[in-house]
Amino acid sequence: MKNLLTILLATILCSCQDNKEQLNLTEGVYISNVTIISTEDGTYSPHIGHLVIEKDIIVYADKNEPSINGTFEKIDGTGKFIIPGLIDSHVHIIPGVQGMLPHHIEKYPELATEFNSQMPRSYLYHGFTALINLGGISDERIASFNMQEVKPDLYHVGYSGAAVANGYPMNFTPEEFRFDAEPNFIYMESQAESIPDKYDPADHTPKAVVKRIKNSGGIAVKSYYERGFGRMSKLPVPTKRIMTELLNEAHSNGLVLTVHANSLEGHSFLADIGVDILSHGLWNWGKYKDVPRDSLPLEIKRTLDLQIQKQIGYTPTLTVIEGEEALVDTGFLDQPVLKKVVPKNLLEWYKTEEAQWFAKEIFNELTVEEVHIIYDNVQAHAMLALKYLSDNNGLILFGSDTPSAPTYGNQPGHNGNWELKLMKEAGVPLNKILASATFNNAKAFHLDASLGSLAIGKKANIIMMAKNPLMDIEAYDAIEQVVIGGKVIKREDLEVKE
Ligand SMILES: [Zn+2]
Repeated sequence: MKNLLTILLATILCSCQDNKEQLNLTEGVYISNVTIISTEDGTYSPHIGHLVIEKDIIVYADKNEPSINGTFEKIDGTGKFIIPGLIDSHVHIIPGVQGMLPHHIEKYPELATEFNSQMPRSYLYHGFTALINLGGISDERIASFNMQEVKPDLYHVGYSGAAVANGYPMNFTPEEFRFDAEPNFIYMESQAESIPDKYDPADHTPKAVVKRIKNSGGIAVKSYYERGFGRMSKLPVPTKRIMTELLNEAHSNGLVLTVHANSLEGHSFLADIGVDILSHGLWNWGKYKDVPRDSLPLEIKRTLDLQIQKQIGYTPTLTVIEGEEALVDTGFLDQPVLKKVVPKNLLEWYKTEEAQWFAKEIFNELTVEEVHIIYDNVQAHAMLALKYLSDNNGLILFGSDTPSAPTYGNQPGHNGNWELKLMKEAGVPLNKILASATFNNAKAFHLDASLGSLAIGKKANIIMMAKNPLMDIEAYDAIEQVVIGGKVIKREDLEVKE
């Protein structure tokens, strides 16, 4: 499909070799004299060149000036840098609002309305032009997201993940609703007693579940390996047979299998099986949880080595930890940058006593100092594992897990921007950070026919920056224009309107 389109566009619109033929544009955009930063193989060689879009497709990208006529907008790219739009491969477009419980939304419906009309723009504001929803989503939610005037491209994994019956994350939903809420649950004999009779085990095999996910338009299968945390532990987890079947079924349906796991046990189990993607980094080190921050135990190293050897996608999601810790950081909500992406009234509500419910629930009696000690230690381990994987050519996929929990610490767009900075802090080089959020994600999720690079035939999702993202992490704060499906939007037009 991609090749056919490329050939077609190349022959109809231009002959790039002799560069004499004209591009006839009807709804074009011509970005001239700009530094083009894109890769087709993971290595970068930025160069000054020209890029032309017709409607929503890139039709020209070359060092030489194009010959064009017709109707087009010209953007002078002198001194600027363009990269492909960023792909966040782990988000949750939840039905509600980060940090609010259903009864809060009932009480303050206007806060939810303001949040939901700003949310897609906030992702674009920070350069995220494609999102992969890694949990359940309804057709209504997809429709309401897509109804927005401007929004990133949204991909999903079906109406729910392939969780084992009563396992994570089903365990969060009360028993009487959880099976309806998780239509793609996997039947397990050990849980048979609590599964209502109306569910036929034949509809809940890995084969039946993956087929359903495929038919509902999912691009991947999401599963989970989580024994639980806090008050909820000893949750059922998939057997090796179930996980292997999910992997095989995903592949025979042309899908990829991405699995939630952040523990050594989970990462090691999944690395053995050879799943496609781990949707979190390895930060829950089990019996090694108290080792010094700068030591990488042999068992952790071996697990990472196996993931590197098999080139399993590794999604660090460092903001999972940071976004919970933010609940005890009094300065978090006062960051000027949050005002750009979170509606004012909602920001004010987050500062109220009522909004501290989740902090109270997870931190309980802990002091602020104790919270910092615990979370900083986990984050140090998460960063160490990521650095090792990066230094040894592991496959890093960018994902922010926005929001990972009902915390106001994970805000749309802002959280992804934070994740980029944390990856840098962990020691991942800038070229690998950029690749993880563009080329790697597109390839890993089979979206590379249309996304992930600035090649002819690809969708025109482009970010223009005032700084070079291969030289300076601050480039992600220096976005000037966002092109989504060929539509050019100035960054300031995406921020919260006063
Ligand atoms: Zn998640």
